Amino acid sequence: MSGEKSADFLQRLDSDEPVLHAGGYLFEMERRGYLQAGAYVPEVVLEFPQALEELHAEFARCGSDVMLAFTYYGHREKLRLIGKEDLLEPLNREAVRIARKVAADFPHTFVAGNICNTNVYEPGSAEAEKEVRGIFTEQLAWAAEEGIDIIVCETVAYLGEAKIAVEVARDFGLPIVLGFAIHKPGKLRDFDGSVGEACKIVRDHGADVVGVNCHRGPATMLPLLDEIVEHVEANHACGFPVAYRTTPDEPTFGALRDPNQPYPEQVPGGLPFPVALDPFVCTRYEMGEFARRAKALGVRYMGGCCGTGPHHIRAMAEALGRATPASRYSPDMSKHYALGDNPQLKQHNRDYATGLTAAGSQL
Ligand SMILES: [Zn+2]
Repeated sequence: MSGEKSADFLQRLDSDEPVLHAGGYLFEMERRGYLQAGAYVPEVVLEFPQALEELHAEFARCGSDVMLAFTYYGHREKLRLIGKEDLLEPLNREAVRIARKVAADFPHTFVAGNICNTNVYEPGSAEAEKEVRGIFTEQLAWAAEEGIDIIVCETVAYLGEAKIAVEVARDFGLPIVLGFAIHKPGKLRDFDGSVGEACKIVRDHGADVVGVNCHRGPATMLPLLDEIVEHVEANHACGFPVAYRTTPDEPTFGALRDPNQPYPEQVPGGLPFPVALDPFVCTRYEMGEFARRAKALGVRYMGGCCGTGPHHIRAMAEALGRATPASRYSPDMSKHYALGDNPQLKQHNRDYATGLTAAGSQL
């Protein structure tokens, strides 16, 4: 019952319970060996549907409220790039079917159709605009036919492209979430105003939720949220960062440098992004704190993008005060052989590890 769920979604934004969004399927599927880095096309949808079902379920068990159909980079431009345009429609339809199938086991979730940066858009080009409009229109038409509750448009670095996305999405009568990708310069590629000002424009254009996603980790996304909530209602703002430890000097995952990389000559381009980011993965606690702070700002749509794993989502859910099905396995160190305090534990192990961080620790 999409209509009902869509209404639920909008009501949810007015509540104290943020919508928690698990994303980052592209990176996680690549890491698991089901998707090729480089072209980054989600053929896994057709080739290993069971692997995708599993990840959907893992995220939902860990508290994700959004079942994000994996059509990120499953658009015409990408399929053309790998010479498989014939798979475009089957891939888009199947991604939504898979999301819906798993959502049946997690009735609290909203099934989201997903569109994203086309890499075609070029400011001032009528031809590019037409192509972008076509890409969004066909993807959303297939998704809507298969049955979605909301539309998530993500990782868009142009105000112009975001406006096209919203114009196309509006015709489907579903709640629209739009996330801007803010690269290192701290602004959009075609708009000199602030990110908050751009969000206001897109909100006025018809997006129900606007904000930022991808590229920035929690530490460098929070300051953007501070500014965004000055321009749009906080409960209609969103932020879903990458799960990488970005810094003011290196504010995006593309800007990260790894002077400790022992084999730089083996790493493509010598850069952590996109396939050697492992040393920068956020702890679950960093992602949890992001959720806590975003909620305190009044933000009601949050989550994780590239680099996010189920444990991050569980930590975010728990930071929001929830218990998830996977919380049964959340850390409890009381029975750890060396770090615990359970009386049955051997004292010699506990002594050996006394003060793990202290000079006396042998671990
Ligand atoms: Zn991302």
